[in-house]
This record gives sequence, C-alpha cells and structure tokens, in this order.
Amino acid sequence: MFLAALVLATSAALAQGWKYRSYKEPAREKVCVQVMWRATEQEVVDTCGGAGCWYKGEPSLIIAPRPKDFNDSRAIYILGHELLHALGAEHD
Ligand SMILES: [Zn+2]
Repeated sequence: MFLAALVLATSAALAQGWKYRSYKEPAREKVCVQVMWRATEQEVVDTCGGAGCWYKGEPSLIIAPRPKDFNDSRAIYILGHELLHALGAEHD
C-alpha cells in the first residue's frame, strides 16, 4: 500500500455496539482524501483488516464499503468515522 504510514481500522467490536470511551477532536480544519470503495464490508476487511481503514498521507486514503444509498447508515458511518481520523480525530 502506497500510503501505509498509519492505519486505523474500525474494529469488529464496534460493529457489535462498542462505544468509544475517549474522543480527541479533529486537529485539522480540512483534509484531502481519496476514497477506495469496496463492494462489501467483508471486502474491506479482506483489503485492510478492518470495517474501514484510513492511511495517513497527502492525500490520505480511506478504504470503505460503498453505501448502497443515502439510507445505508452503516456504510456512511464507516466513511464518516474514517474521515474524522483523516482530520486528526482519535479514540481509545
Ligand atoms: Zn477509529
């Protein structure tokens, strides 16, 4: 992977209702990212080891499942989660 400086992946525990205990707000006001869609969440796991992944770089790279539509809350959640990481947010 060409931007593999740092990888943060959503965990399987998150999918089972895990709530994060800590939150560090994003340090950046803007970020340039590329998004690599995978057809399913399992394909994302097979690609990078988590439900969604973020690779730090310029631009950053987010690998996430492609939302089926605007009602696909799970896929949109994963995309937003990784975008928060790209902006500098952190959690436990
Ligand atoms: Zn995360």
